[in-house]
Amino acid sequence: MNKKILVTRSSMPPMDEYINEIKEMWDTHWLTNAGKKHEELRGLLKDYLGVKDLELFTNGHMALELSLAALGLSSGEVITSPFTFVSTTNAIVRSGLKPVFCDIKEDDYTMDPDKMEALITKDTVAVMPIHVYGNVCDIERIQEIADRHGLKVIYDAAHTFGESYKGRGIGSYGDISCFSFHATKVYNTIEGGAACFADASLGEKLAQMRDFGIVDEERVAYAGPNAKMHEFSAAMGICNLRHVDEEIAKRAKVSARYRERLKDIDGLILNPVKKDVRSNHAYFPVVFEEEVFGVSRDVVFDALNKNNIGARKYFYPITTAVECYRDTYDPLDTPIAKRISESVLTLPIYADLTMDEVDRICDVVGGCRRA
Ligand SMILES: *Cc1c(COP(=O)(O)O)cnc(C)c1O
Repeated sequence: MNKKILVTRSSMPPMDEYINEIKEMWDTHWLTNAGKKHEELRGLLKDYLGVKDLELFTNGHMALELSLAALGLSSGEVITSPFTFVSTTNAIVRSGLKPVFCDIKEDDYTMDPDKMEALITKDTVAVMPIHVYGNVCDIERIQEIADRHGLKVIYDAAHTFGESYKGRGIGSYGDISCFSFHATKVYNTIEGGAACFADASLGEKLAQMRDFGIVDEERVAYAGPNAKMHEFSAAMGICNLRHVDEEIAKRAKVSARYRERLKDIDGLILNPVKKDVRSNHAYFPVVFEEEVFGVSRDVVFDALNKNNIGARKYFYPITTAVECYRDTYDPLDTPIAKRISESVLTLPIYADLTMDEVDRICDVVGGCRRA
């Protein structure tokens, strides 16, 4: 049997580099609460991401939740897309807000601004679009509609670490953009996340909110959770940041090889490369058009599995179809999102995936075709 290929593999720095980074913590005994590593990482990421300011969190999900809170949003409707990881929808619901689901565009799977405006009501307070697979949303049109209706814009930028659009860091768009630094993402702090913003008043609010809402020793202004990033995560982030450009360059090679091998197979739709975007090659999604390809996505998924290759049905099901939402929402309200979720697979991609392994994967995918 061939060696198992997982869908992703977490990036780790050389062990000595990490040990060196954490050594001084045995002198300081300062392990969390905005320590030295935390502040250092924050500064490094501000530069790297090209954003005015950012706050760090224990994960990307808490960055999303507390961004809604910091913008003062606790009731009303938020327009979003169901073609995402369930975190996006959960963040809205857990904040006491009502998600309103907008369909996605056929070509890049991000929220369709043409369908967004019709969903705006007197109760709409914000939009939370997702840069799906690293595909940048229609930022200009979303912002224009939001501005016209006085809506806040919070981007779920979990897939877009290191990307830029029209020469600007992707995290600099919207009122707030949230990144995830989860182990499976292009860049990780083991678990972690960040909210990026330009409005200076948001920084202090976010910092208090992620620390139980504590203002000072005797004042608590908000019923906050604990969502602080600790020093071991920050140290991992400092190390991984030194290598991330190299990792993205390796991902680009994997992505190019996939394209080369798959582009001429009828019935496969490969992820678009948008102009003005510097891509991070976070995912390699393939949409299978069953009528042309001859078999369904699920057949390919099973064939890959049988060959010890772990592809993912990502995102399937869409969030409106999961157990906790399907009684309230109807996946048929967003037919394109539903169809894409039923026909997409993300193929393995990570920096150290070899060209031989990519070829092995492409051989299995191509071999499934029934013309
Ligand atoms: C990973 C992810 C999140 C959640 O981030 P965590 O760091 O795992 O909490 C949210 N939205 C999307 C689209 C994601 O991929």
